[in-house]
Amino acid sequence: MQVFQGIKIVNGIAIGKIKIYKTPVYEINEGAPADVDAELAKFESARVKVQEQQNALYDKEMKDGHKDTAGIFEAHALMLDDDDLIDSCKEIISDGHTAEFAVRDGFEAAAEMFRNMDDPYFQARSADVIDLKNSMLDVLFGNDTESLQGTEPAILVAEDMAPSETVKLDKSLLLGLVTRQGSSNSHTAILARSMNLPTLIQCKDIADDWDGKFAILDGYNACIYIEPEQKIIDELSAKQAEDRKKEAELQQLKGKTSVTKDGQKVRVYANIGGPKDINAVIENDAEGVGLFRSEFVYLNSKTDPTEDEQFEAYKKVLEALAPRLVIIRTCDIGADKTIDYMNLDKEDNPALGFRAIRICLKRPEFFKRQLRALLRASAFGNLGIMFPMIISRWEVESCKKLLEECRKELEYEGVKVGKYEIGIMIETPAAALCADDLAPEVDFFSLGTNDLTQYTCAIDRQSANLEDFADTHHPAVLRLIRETIEAGHRHNTWVGICGELGADPTLTEEFLKMGVDELSVNPKSVLPLRGNIRNADLSEFRKKQAQESQAQDSNQQVPGFWGRLFK
Ligand code: PEP
Ligand code: MG
Repeated sequence: MQVFQGIKIVNGIAIGKIKIYKTPVYEINEGAPADVDAELAKFESARVKVQEQQNALYDKEMKDGHKDTAGIFEAHALMLDDDDLIDSCKEIISDGHTAEFAVRDGFEAAAEMFRNMDDPYFQARSADVIDLKNSMLDVLFGNDTESLQGTEPAILVAEDMAPSETVKLDKSLLLGLVTRQGSSNSHTAILARSMNLPTLIQCKDIADDWDGKFAILDGYNACIYIEPEQKIIDELSAKQAEDRKKEAELQQLKGKTSVTKDGQKVRVYANIGGPKDINAVIENDAEGVGLFRSEFVYLNSKTDPTEDEQFEAYKKVLEALAPRLVIIRTCDIGADKTIDYMNLDKEDNPALGFRAIRICLKRPEFFKRQLRALLRASAFGNLGIMFPMIISRWEVESCKKLLEECRKELEYEGVKVGKYEIGIMIETPAAALCADDLAPEVDFFSLGTNDLTQYTCAIDRQSANLEDFADTHHPAVLRLIRETIEAGHRHNTWVGICGELGADPTLTEEFLKMGVDELSVNPKSVLPLRGNIRNADLSEFRKKQAQESQAQDSNQQVPGFWGRLFK
């Protein structure tokens, strides 16, 4: 038995034979072609054919509901329209070379240009250009790449896998994927995640003589066992069976309500960063969105996004997820999330500095652009508007005043505005302790436990050095959560949790006992959380609670001798 390490992209266990996948290597004719015009025509017809293939792959991925991966092929099809790339290839042909030669050199040069860029995202795009080069050569050489996968289910082992190669694979024959190259930012990694395929990258020891050998890919421990011993086979087969059982059980929870055995209902929502996460919400059957971190719309933009750009992003999410409630948090820039175009001063203590609502209230024109976009989008779904980093009532009043100003402006302009709820994040001890004062101002509270923990415990959430002191279950934080829920309920303000703690399975029962109305978690945690809620039985707790309140009531009725005396 041999064991080799890699970097895991997707957890899970794959058991089966290895198939070495080799990207075909072509012998390029380095000589001059007989007819330059014929080579130009050959190049053009290959370009059109590959573009058609990429468009077909785009349609296939969209049909399968994989919008993210569809985007890769849409980008590929667009790259094949790039004038610089086309002209450079045609120039090479006109200089007296074959179409294959021109594709190899022209596409390699473009890939090199991406490789030399500073931004890791653009560096990773060089792999897309190489992928297109190979597809062009496949067409020019008349090659059938599908035959490269073999006909039996296998763990595929390759130097690297281009997105178009990965997507062309027959998924029913694909048990797992191991590559020597690859980066976690690459499109192949994105594809592997979307297929939920156990995958290792950067496995430097792969060798041709693995071909046909029995192996187990252990995604949990980021390794592959070649010809494993029986003990490992038994252990990992049991783990695989357990995973399958868990996965199947979770799927059964789709369409079911999130309700405890004794009948307490809780809404399970998802946290998202933008329209690209719409599918994840639907696939994981989230009942709504409890936190749309709108600052990602700003972070993904090189310039300050316009009102229209923001409106389009919000509308897309609201429309796609209607009638679910979608809570969009207004821009929470600052602290660890900085943006060049905002020109924010450097601060000694940024987590306690000029961030979130503080920036918005100091820059009303900037804030109003977002509020107008949100109000316009409210006509297309079920919107909740949430303000972050609140510490005082006057801040909420100011936000509402600006919102009302925007609503009136839009009304005057004849723009339709729908209904919406208003809420605030409770993520500072000040807000939690003043919850009774804040609640009458809003429809809902959402507990941001990430910041609430940071500010309550004075533990910088960014610092790796404070791990030993960080206690996510700190009694002070749990107490502030409970008191916020109680304060909210005293004023008919519903209360959710959208910080990471909401997905902590060891706290689900505690939050249910506190009476939380909604838990918003990363999409992958929605079904496991629903499972926890459905397994919880709080009838004993309720019985005890009822007895205690009865006892309290009778205590207040002046018991014993004095009670009888004053009857
Ligand atoms: C939080 O603070 O818990 C929260 C949800 O907001 P963020 O993590 O974006 O600061
Ligand atoms: Mg926060």
